[in-house]
Amino acid sequence: MRLDDVVGHDRIRSILSRALERDRLPPALLLSGPDGVGKKLLALAAAQAALCEQAPGPEPCGECRACRKVSAAVETERLEKYREEADSHPDKDEWRNFRLHPDLILVEGWRLTKTGRPRPEPEIRVGQVRALVSEVPGTPYEARRRVFILDDAHSMNESSQNALLKSLEEPPSRSHLILVTSRPQRLRETIRSRCQVLRFGPLSREAVTTFLTERQGVPQEEARLRASLAAGSLGAALAFESEAYKGMREGLLSLLERIGDMDALARMEQAETLEQADDPGRGRGAAERGRCSAPRSARLGAPGDSCRRPGRRRGADAGGASWLRQQAAELRYPRRLALPRVIRCAAGAGCVTSSPKVSPCRSA
Ligand SMILES: [Zn+2]
Repeated sequence: MRLDDVVGHDRIRSILSRALERDRLPPALLLSGPDGVGKKLLALAAAQAALCEQAPGPEPCGECRACRKVSAAVETERLEKYREEADSHPDKDEWRNFRLHPDLILVEGWRLTKTGRPRPEPEIRVGQVRALVSEVPGTPYEARRRVFILDDAHSMNESSQNALLKSLEEPPSRSHLILVTSRPQRLRETIRSRCQVLRFGPLSREAVTTFLTERQGVPQEEARLRASLAAGSLGAALAFESEAYKGMREGLLSLLERIGDMDALARMEQAETLEQADDPGRGRGAAERGRCSAPRSARLGAPGDSCRRPGRRRGADAGGASWLRQQAAELRYPRRLALPRVIRCAAGAGCVTSSPKVSPCRSA
């Protein structure tokens, strides 16, 4: 995996490439930005470059033993196998510290409690961080460097963050910690201030469309639809279930057109249906893992979402799930009901709006 393989983020890739070429990768890095934009991929690519037998260089060679080992370990199937093995022993904290190479550890949060019950949010346990911290001062086994990646670092609880602090205060010269997070505000200031921070922004719609068509073979029209709803997240665009989305969209548009003629009972029934509806933007794989990679604003293409100027999207509350709840509430209380104008935009996203000030999307 090369840094060049990561879509977008030219400035950040160039900072990391230069640091790797000069053999000056910072001891602690914090990669922060929205979900699904390539932070972890870039962390793994930088780690591979640091471990490569041809290092120092701006990119991993891709052919040496270290590169082949890391590339094989980050295959999706292999990672899923590690996760399954860990989940069969939920009381063994350090089993979710995946050793991808003797000198590369990827830490992921537990989605199970120690007794095997599902957690509402993942957690990086203090036992995992203590196991990691005990390794940081050691010398590399095979490579010139050691790299430790904490994915979703904000999943560390208070004790875990305290346990990590010492490693950040006295980082050894041959070990590197890379914290990846979409919620840096959940990390203690003392952690953030000890890391060099690289901030990722959302990807451009063009970059997402190009990736989907050229690397995934997605038809142009489908790629444009996904890119327009993914809010700059490649993860969201990949997880997006277009057919389910289109079906739901058509159903909602049809409902909005008929709603004025419905009696109270019919509205109540429709409200129940809306409240229980699945959110197609979650993506089947993401939903099964209990984790949604799509930003809320990308999940349904809520009213006005794609009708607004680029860069001025509505906040997360405008997103699909909350919009469904809002529509359900309005169906329950007909006096508050404002019939939206139904406008099907040129991009096929079928934008819906109740405001005469918002014009339909014609940009896509
Ligand atoms: Zn190599």
